[in-house]
Amino acid sequence: MKNDMKVFDNLESEVRSYVRSFPTIFTKTKGYKMWDHEGKEYIDFFSGAGALNYGHNDEKMKQKLIDYIMSDHITHSLDMASDAKATFLNTFHETILKPRNMDYKMMFPGPTGTNTVESALKLARKATGRTDIISFTNGFHGMTIGALSVTGNSMKRKGAGIPLQNVVTMPYDNYVDDQDAIDYIDRFLEDNGSGVAIPAAMILETVQGEGGINAASFEWMRKIEALCKRWGIILIVDEVQAGVGRTGSFFSFEPAGIKPDIICMSKSLSGYGLPFAMTLVRPEIDQFQPGEHNGTFRGNNHAFVTATAALDYWKDSKLEENIKDKAEKTHAFLERLVKEYPELKGEVRGRGLMVGVACDVEGLSNEIAAKAFEHGLIMETAGPNDEVFKLFPALTIDDEGLEKGLNIIEKSIQDVLE
Ligand code: PMP
Repeated sequence: MKNDMKVFDNLESEVRSYVRSFPTIFTKTKGYKMWDHEGKEYIDFFSGAGALNYGHNDEKMKQKLIDYIMSDHITHSLDMASDAKATFLNTFHETILKPRNMDYKMMFPGPTGTNTVESALKLARKATGRTDIISFTNGFHGMTIGALSVTGNSMKRKGAGIPLQNVVTMPYDNYVDDQDAIDYIDRFLEDNGSGVAIPAAMILETVQGEGGINAASFEWMRKIEALCKRWGIILIVDEVQAGVGRTGSFFSFEPAGIKPDIICMSKSLSGYGLPFAMTLVRPEIDQFQPGEHNGTFRGNNHAFVTATAALDYWKDSKLEENIKDKAEKTHAFLERLVKEYPELKGEVRGRGLMVGVACDVEGLSNEIAAKAFEHGLIMETAGPNDEVFKLFPALTIDDEGLEKGLNIIEKSIQDVLE
């Protein structure tokens, strides 16, 4: 295949950007590796932006899916009950919710992360009878108008054409472990003159993915939860990117000891890269009447099958141990890099295997990511100015793959700084 990119340039709308960042055609994937049409091997530190936490083409999930398809099971059943759905609901309850003492209703809002955010915003407004939402600077929640309106990125909001209403964006706690940010919000709510009405909900990511791998402190999360309780505000945690083990535990907020009112899940929930989303809702907030939030492709049966198989990873502690081990190695490696290469003006960020390096030099992190691609490593950049290169290896990665990927990053930095 020669001149592949010309084919793309001619036929594909310019709105998609990944083709430009990773200029080749991929033909095969396995675990943490990808191969392109010329047989070149890549280590994947992108993992579908967090949609492939268990790596590509997991054998067990693949086999379950093949068996399911071969036995002519139900592919599409809209809202009819299927055994795949029943098995997923029971397994999720037994494996994830019950051991954590979490009492939530599960609903399937549509196929994507954006759909779960939309359902959460609607539900919070319905349950409280209020309209406003507080969101946070640099948060990202999706591309439809509701989800975009709570996204704290003006460039992305511009895509909506007009200013979006009923949303107040407050400063996000970037590592700052003091009371100031909470006081600030409290004062807005107390002071009628501020014009800020008591909102229906607050929506946040525990670690902001698209916004630049900004990890909120556990203390801040606890204070936000307390503030929400004080004012009767619904706390929505968007787990679309940080959830399903990415930061070290199944739910990223677990170590903070908080219990959000609504939890948004998607990306790696299916385990296999299939379109799938779920909204977890405290029973008292579950106030949708039949027909108030439906959709043709919600609750995909193939995704139920692979998502159930993926939960096997959470039946013992092996995966969590691997995340901890690989996260420690990754953070230590990157801390050494930013010390050894001061030209990066680098700062290591993140939690677990949701990691980034912010480079305070314009364009540098994009150059490093592009060079890494040449050397066979796939990684993305994030942050308001793409200043962070982002490391999202599969949570199942072994030492060999991790070291190979990290060494490519160091070599790319050396090449770029030369
Ligand atoms: N919330 C967060 C935190 C996300 O990272 C994303 C996607 N990057 C979304 C919501 C939207 O998900 P989707 O692209 O599946 O609609």
